[in-house]
Amino acid sequence: MDARVYDLLNDQINKEMYSSYLYLSFADFYEEAGLKGFANWYEIQAKEEMDHALIFRNYLHENGCNVKLLAIDQPDKVFDNFLAPLEAALEHEKYVTSLIDAIYAAAVDAKDYRTMKFLDWFIAEQQEEEDNAETMVTRMKLFGDDAKALYDLDQENLSRVYSTPSPLAGK
Ligand code: MG
Repeated sequence: MDARVYDLLNDQINKEMYSSYLYLSFADFYEEAGLKGFANWYEIQAKEEMDHALIFRNYLHENGCNVKLLAIDQPDKVFDNFLAPLEAALEHEKYVTSLIDAIYAAAVDAKDYRTMKFLDWFIAEQQEEEDNAETMVTRMKLFGDDAKALYDLDQENLSRVYSTPSPLAGK
């Protein structure tokens, strides 16, 4: 494997684990505020991010590459309202999209068609992640100031269930 493609793929394990840690910190914020639905949403999001990390890890192993696990940064954001984490999540997902795009660009440069194909799932996944994050922001802006509507949003988020992403489930 091309050295730059390898470095970016290996780094992405760390970035996805950081995403998991970040969303777990968002879940803590909502849990501590009594919004168990929003907490549930971000707990599931945290699991999905850990899954993403494993998908990159597995891909390296499947291609005969060693994995180097790096230190995970501490999530350090402090929030004082219910909208702020949702906006931070949208911003973060746009950043992750830029990381996936950068790996893809490196794979193109290296004519690494296998990695390009592998990344296709993440390209589509990032579109969904940004869309979901944007919906969360929009709904909170529309309804979040009303206590009853906020309760309903929280109940809706409580119904989200975890499912294993298809590449990890072997589909
Ligand atoms: Mg991810």
